[in-house]
Amino acid sequence: MTDPALAPWAIVDASFVAASKTLAELPPEQGPELAFAGRSNVGKSSLLNLLLGRRRLVRTSTTPGCTRQLAFFHARARDGRAFLLVDLPGYGYAKRSKGERRSWARLVEDYLGTRAALRAVVVLLDARHGVTDTDAQLLELLDTGARARPHVIVVATKADKLQKSRQRAAIDALERAAGRKLIATSAVSGQGVEAIWRALRAATDASAP
Ligand code: GDP
Repeated sequence: MTDPALAPWAIVDASFVAASKTLAELPPEQGPELAFAGRSNVGKSSLLNLLLGRRRLVRTSTTPGCTRQLAFFHARARDGRAFLLVDLPGYGYAKRSKGERRSWARLVEDYLGTRAALRAVVVLLDARHGVTDTDAQLLELLDTGARARPHVIVVATKADKLQKSRQRAAIDALERAAGRKLIATSAVSGQGVEAIWRALRAATDASAP
């Protein structure tokens, strides 16, 4: 088996670019943007670090749901292609006030609806928890409301927590609930990283301006 670190899609250079609390603070559009969304604690930071090939570039949330900002990370692959990965604020944290949830929704919806450089949105679902109402709302928003019409890639995180023998059935059930194909991932084993990069790169190929 070839070493994944030597694959053309493997990230050889990754760095933090900016964190934005408002649309006015977004960094300039400088290449294809790939956004990541999911409920707090779904494993978004862990997956982003895995995709970036870095252990702790994206901070794992110590207080779930606390950060209401978009964080941008530059990534350059071995074959020279460059992307901006965008960590959208985690949603669905029960202890948030209605006002906080509204401002999360506004920031994310405005970003998704207006950002011309946005090529793909990765929606993360916990492999054990199914599709929650907020997940379903986000999927619907991406289908109907996002003007930039990014590709949507749905990922089931923490697949290692499913019993091996039950993995396929659990993923099938999630796919039925989400109404689309999923990529199963694990930040523990690295499962799914190549599949996600392939899907993301195909999305940026297909919609290049
Ligand atoms: P975020 O809030 O969505 O950014 O989630 P984190 O990446 O901070 O992960 C939340 C918790 O789930 C942490 O304790 C992680 O160690 C754990 N976690 C994340 N991904 C995985 C995974 O693929 N497998 C397992 N077993 N645990 C994970």
